[in-house]
Amino acid sequence: MNENDLVIIGGGIIGLAVANDIIKRNSKLKILLVEKDTNVASQQSGHNSGVIHSGIYYKPGSFKAQFCVEGRASMTKFCQENEIPVWTCGKLIVATKESDIPKIDNLYERGTANNVEGLKVLNPDESREIEPYVKSLKSLHAPGTGIVNYETVTEVYAEQFKKNGGEILLDTKVIGSKKENNKIVVETNKGEIHTKKVINCAGLHSDRIAKMFGLETNLKIIPFRGEYYTLKKEKEYLVKGLIYPVPNPELPFLGVHFTQTMKGVVEAGPNAVLATKREGYRKRDISIKDTLDTFTYSGFWKLFKNDWKTGIWEVNRSLRKKIFVNSLRELIPQVNDFDLGTGGSGVRAQAVAPNGDLIDDFKIESGDNSIHVLNAPSPGATSSLVIGKYIGNLAAKEFGY
Ligand SMILES: Cc1cc2nc3c(=O)[nH]c(=O)nc-3n(C[C@H](O)[C@H](O)[C@H](O)COP(=O)(O)OP(=O)(O)OC[C@H]3O[C@@H](n4cnc5c(N)ncnc54)[C@H](O)[C@@H]3O)c2cc1C
Repeated sequence: MNENDLVIIGGGIIGLAVANDIIKRNSKLKILLVEKDTNVASQQSGHNSGVIHSGIYYKPGSFKAQFCVEGRASMTKFCQENEIPVWTCGKLIVATKESDIPKIDNLYERGTANNVEGLKVLNPDESREIEPYVKSLKSLHAPGTGIVNYETVTEVYAEQFKKNGGEILLDTKVIGSKKENNKIVVETNKGEIHTKKVINCAGLHSDRIAKMFGLETNLKIIPFRGEYYTLKKEKEYLVKGLIYPVPNPELPFLGVHFTQTMKGVVEAGPNAVLATKREGYRKRDISIKDTLDTFTYSGFWKLFKNDWKTGIWEVNRSLRKKIFVNSLRELIPQVNDFDLGTGGSGVRAQAVAPNGDLIDDFKIESGDNSIHVLNAPSPGATSSLVIGKYIGNLAAKEFGY
């Protein structure tokens, strides 16, 4: 049996960034990336807002703060070097009510502490110079924020990985593991794969894969669907770049926003509703296994107890377009429900702790001959090259690669 030095599970932007980083350091390694779907970037990496975040929101010193600020610069440079269309259109975070006004100053301080360049607090007139149709009492402008299509970025990572000698096995699902003579046997629906080491980048299934490889984490991935509308062509003039509300500091989601995209549409969203399937992109998608997994987890009920009002409000906003539109009208009052067409959706892999806390920061843990990415929510795509480098360093230290 031909043995691999390393098997990476998951062909999303994180798995491929890790694969690329490690193969560039050591082209002699035999590295195999296994993806269950028929193409890369089929899950979160191909269903997101496409924003290259600048790093304002995150707690100073956190992985998110460090990785995102460096990630924005490296992602923008990577795209320019590889002829991937990218647009640094800038972003406005808008206070629409009195209680938001001090939060703009807090965000400015946090962003400055995180070394985000070019931040400016703007009064209503200055805000309208950037976004003429916005309703703003005060806003924070981040000129370095940009947009890109992360599916394209992931495909380019994949091409580079293969060019450097890596192998990608698509349509191959990891279903278990065992040990033979101190080596790892990865069991898949297509047969066994032998390897010395494993890196788990399985996104929405990362907790299950960690368990398969013997890592007891206590964490559970709870899927939250984010739904988008698209602004009709004739109303796209209302949005010049990216317009965000002031986020709820208790939640890791940024609130529904307007986003220019590289797909040529302006998106509005995403909301955050509990999904009844880990890869449930439509309201009607249900998996009994995934739903039972959520509802039998004590951490979910603690989260529900603390945040049930937000949860019910989000479900209401998901079911009733009028409520969704009202949230958007807080940012741009001229938007009407007939200006919005149906958009896509994405499902966030959100790790939840047994005490009900939503894990805010990126979480990467080591196991027996293995490394596991247990939480990589937004700004994971922005930060992917830096996460790749971080795990590359960890693999060098722990695996000798
Ligand atoms: C709605 C939404 C909006 C977002 N907006 C932004 C944004 O604007 N900017 C930003 O920086 N980030 C954003 N993010 C976050 C970003 O998309 C994620 O951080 C990133 O895509 C995570 O990549 P990943 O590789 O970990 O996961 P994924 O892309 O989900 O990849 C995991 C892969 O593992 C595979 N897999 C799972 N189980 C198995 C198995 N058993 N065997 C084999 N393969 C398996 C899956 O098929 C999948 O391809 C957003 C996310 C969502 C959902």
